[in-house]
Amino acid sequence: MGPVDIENYLSVVLPGLGINKMRELVRLLYEIAQRDGAPLPQILPQEEKWNFEKAKTHLLKKRYPVNFKTAARNRFYLPKLELDPALRADLTPRPFYPKTVYIEESVQNTPLAARVRELFPKARFELTDGKTQVGSPHFSRRTETLLIHREKYDFLKPCPCSCAAAGCGYNLINLGFGCRFECEYCFLQQYQNLHAVLLPANVEEFLAKIDTASFNKGPFDRPRIGSGEFTDSLVFDHITQYSQQIVPFFRARPHLQFEFKTKSVNIEGLLQAGGAENVVAAWSVNAQPVIQTAEHFTPSLQERLAAAAEVVKAGYRTAFHFDPVIVYDGWKQDYAQTVEAIAQAVPADKVAWISVGTLRFSRELKKMMETRFPNGKLLDGEFLLDFDGKMRYGDGQRLEVYRYFVPLLKKVFPKTVVYLCMEDPQVVKAVCQG
Ligand code: SF4
Repeated sequence: MGPVDIENYLSVVLPGLGINKMRELVRLLYEIAQRDGAPLPQILPQEEKWNFEKAKTHLLKKRYPVNFKTAARNRFYLPKLELDPALRADLTPRPFYPKTVYIEESVQNTPLAARVRELFPKARFELTDGKTQVGSPHFSRRTETLLIHREKYDFLKPCPCSCAAAGCGYNLINLGFGCRFECEYCFLQQYQNLHAVLLPANVEEFLAKIDTASFNKGPFDRPRIGSGEFTDSLVFDHITQYSQQIVPFFRARPHLQFEFKTKSVNIEGLLQAGGAENVVAAWSVNAQPVIQTAEHFTPSLQERLAAAAEVVKAGYRTAFHFDPVIVYDGWKQDYAQTVEAIAQAVPADKVAWISVGTLRFSRELKKMMETRFPNGKLLDGEFLLDFDGKMRYGDGQRLEVYRYFVPLLKKVFPKTVVYLCMEDPQVVKAVCQG
């Protein structure tokens, strides 16, 4: 069912609606129908007498049963419904094998360029001057193009977090842009405008910046630096071999710690590099039903935890990010199983930190998620416009999540730093002090 079908139905039930009123009711009807699998006449019965206000209130109550009474009306976001089938995600399983590889002239003789030629002999190779735009017009076809380049500007920065959120002092080196997984909530689908996978060949220049920088350590024993903001830190490591440079670099700097953040099980490079106490291999984890239905192409929870156990044996510490936590019927039980599975897989004293963050997204990302994954279930939850312009579950639901997770995690992992990610400072205060 698309916007036109809903408009047609509304034209019968409520004839003469203006554009804005039509937009709001189409949006509400669509979201309820998607969530409940219910036909339109069941949601807004034709035989009843409606006016716009009455219909909108009726639909808001149905769409937001938890928050309808308490949330201000302007927190319900009701944009135009635009579903473009051409933008749908391609969920056909396939290996990562770019059709075209662009290599910037300045890095054509680097080991990374040589490795890429060897790994993808059937790809079309082109040299580029670094100024020409490359990539597919389509986000869903981004993995068809690989660009090996020299990063010139964006080496090291504090984690941007969210403008008004409580920060955790994280620092980032952006080693790569683009990912081969298809997580339905991934912000890259709205953020990435060059539809290709970009891998820099000058990792040593990133690392050189670290020695001259000063860092905030936040609530941790040492400053934390990580990669994996615009890609998964390890998913391409068999190609990039960044781990072979990063691990020895940090091993020689025990006053710092580095985090690889991944959902992959691509740990060969880490195992080859040997362990380091101040290098943390962190896994984003979730309830297994969420992994199965919304983190397409990623390894299962058990596979991730088996990889975590191996890197711990090799001398690394590990960490976990419950991010994004999704609220659905039975979420507590499913997440408790994930916590239990982690505790079984790795010794608690090797878990350096655990973060928890509920699903949040920008308004633009919401539209991208619904058009790329029209059968997705993540957006069925009640998301409201929040303090920083992003959309989140209402405060009550988020507090319930954190008040469930934080004591549980502190009990199972008593020496591990547990923190909330991208949260309202008031929520952090309420959870940590209350
Ligand atoms: S693993 Fe991370 S970067 Fe890759 S698709 Fe999922 S959320 Fe995006």
